[in-house]
Amino acid sequence: MPVLRAAALVAAIAGFAIGCVPDRLREERGSAATRGVDAPAPTSTRKAKRSARPAAEPPAAPAAAATRAAGHLALGTPRDADPSDDLLLVKPEYALSYNARRNVANWVGWRLVGSDFGPTRRHKGKFITDESLPPGMLRVGHDDYSGSGFDRGHMCRSEDRTSSEEANRATFVLTNILPQRHELNAGPWLRLEELAQDLAQKQGRELYVVAGGIYEGPIGAIGRGVAVPSSFFKILVVIEPGETPPRVSERTRVVAVVMPNVGEIEREPWARYRTSVDEVERRTGYDFLTDVPEDVQRVIEARVGDAPAR
Ligand code: MN
Ligand code: MN
Repeated sequence: MPVLRAAALVAAIAGFAIGCVPDRLREERGSAATRGVDAPAPTSTRKAKRSARPAAEPPAAPAAAATRAAGHLALGTPRDADPSDDLLLVKPEYALSYNARRNVANWVGWRLVGSDFGPTRRHKGKFITDESLPPGMLRVGHDDYSGSGFDRGHMCRSEDRTSSEEANRATFVLTNILPQRHELNAGPWLRLEELAQDLAQKQGRELYVVAGGIYEGPIGAIGRGVAVPSSFFKILVVIEPGETPPRVSERTRVVAVVMPNVGEIEREPWARYRTSVDEVERRTGYDFLTDVPEDVQRVIEARVGDAPAR
């Protein structure tokens, strides 16, 4: 496969260990996990309005799933200046913008509430190829990460989707995964995930989360060309219980972080990496919270969140 060799060469030039790829394993079990995946929607227009979303769903999609999926982007679809590398995939469990040049998501967004947590045990086995990607796009597999030195880093966390086996399995689909240093994944990134869980599960808050990679400096790649971010960002918007529409105001608590994708940070507190949404927007090129009124965005995106440190 020429594309395979070319990508491997790119990865080798980038200085990342490829690892010896063993026998090409048969395709991972994937089709069942992509049930409920919606057709990609066009990304070039303002389409984040909740009211417009159900019309974009294929008629076969269950109404309940469509409603849940639309909720992930209730604060707006992140947008940048170049929609050509933003393929919007809306799933019941999360929504994402897929970048077929980098073979990873630009961002993954999800709503998080207490009922998302349940007794389901973590999916066992390989990570799952996303069969919903259009024909012709590289479908990243479990083995693209093998021997790379990077974790398969969840954006929408496994624990955030434990209300059913199907929901948990969906977080292991590889379009929700980016190459992440273990020390980050198991360190400050995890501690911020635990804060989000605490807010949603124990404190009754409703969270809107968006996370993804930042690419600064020379971009490395692993496997058949899976781009490795230099840093990761995450934005949490925390809606207080009983908040009435429009719900997001100048008072709304927002936590934004940028964490470097490096080793030796496992013990760092997440709060060390706090920043503003404005800074995340500057470094990613994306506008976030696009359906929040401009005057409110101006205030909450400039502020460095004052969440209690953990
Ligand atoms: Mn993780
Ligand atoms: Mn914004």
